Amino acid sequence: MRKTRYAVAAMAAAAALTLSACGADSGSDSAESGDAETIRIGIKFDQPGLGFAEAGDYAGFDVDVAKYVANELGYGEDQIEWIETPSAQRENMLENDQVDMIFATYSITDTRKEKVSFAGPYFIAGQDLLVRSDSDITGPEDLNGKTLCSVTGSTSAQKVKDGIANDVNLVEQPSYAECVTAMQGGSIDAVTTDDIILAGLASTDANKGQFKVVGNTFSEEKYGVGIQKGSDKCEDINAAIEKMIEDGAWEEAIKKNTEGADYTFNAELNPPAMDACA
Ligand code: GLU
Repeated sequence: MRKTRYAVAAMAAAAALTLSACGADSGSDSAESGDAETIRIGIKFDQPGLGFAEAGDYAGFDVDVAKYVANELGYGEDQIEWIETPSAQRENMLENDQVDMIFATYSITDTRKEKVSFAGPYFIAGQDLLVRSDSDITGPEDLNGKTLCSVTGSTSAQKVKDGIANDVNLVEQPSYAECVTAMQGGSIDAVTTDDIILAGLASTDANKGQFKVVGNTFSEEKYGVGIQKGSDKCEDINAAIEKMIEDGAWEEAIKKNTEGADYTFNAELNPPAMDACA
């Protein structure tokens, strides 16, 4: 009944909403979706291989894990509303109820846990450096006197501030793609964030051959599913991720989304075991 009423209201309000409401009737075979017709999922829009938006299409490993989990929670693909969640806005967007779940290379940290909760992890990456192909930078120890780009609100920028080199000039941008553009322009010597993000950026047609990932990681980034603090969804999300790992879809997704990138995931850490829900 509720769905029918919603569909009628939506038809009057907006064609797009009508479409998703119709999808809800035909595609939902689970009672777990409750009374919500759509689920709002936060992803990155400009991280190739992880979360990437192009012409209304959303692709990447984060997107694939999100779709799998959403499906297990009772939401078909046509019930997902994809929302861009830049690094610096993730906690806020959960706190302000602008998204229901975030799959956006979102590291689980104690500081973030003061504001949000996490399910997962569904992947473990490591912080690394992206440099020009002819660069002789081989790790953080070579960064003194250099200009390094990272993203505001990321653990990557925080780690630089905490001191990975004594004399490094940190430039912060809203996203990693903007850091890469700055490096192309010559004003930046290196970009730092998680290895899998850097590998994806280096592998695009526009960037191929210009940059290399150093391959010398100096952190462990456990990608969690960001949810509202105290949310009761954590156990169900963890069960969904475990199912994705067990049935082979996780491995298929990671392979598909890193194909063509110079990246091999750390098989000692991946696929990860779930943390206990708080
Ligand atoms: N995983 C790190 C973080 O959550 C870096 C990547 C990102 O900014 O999304 O901050």
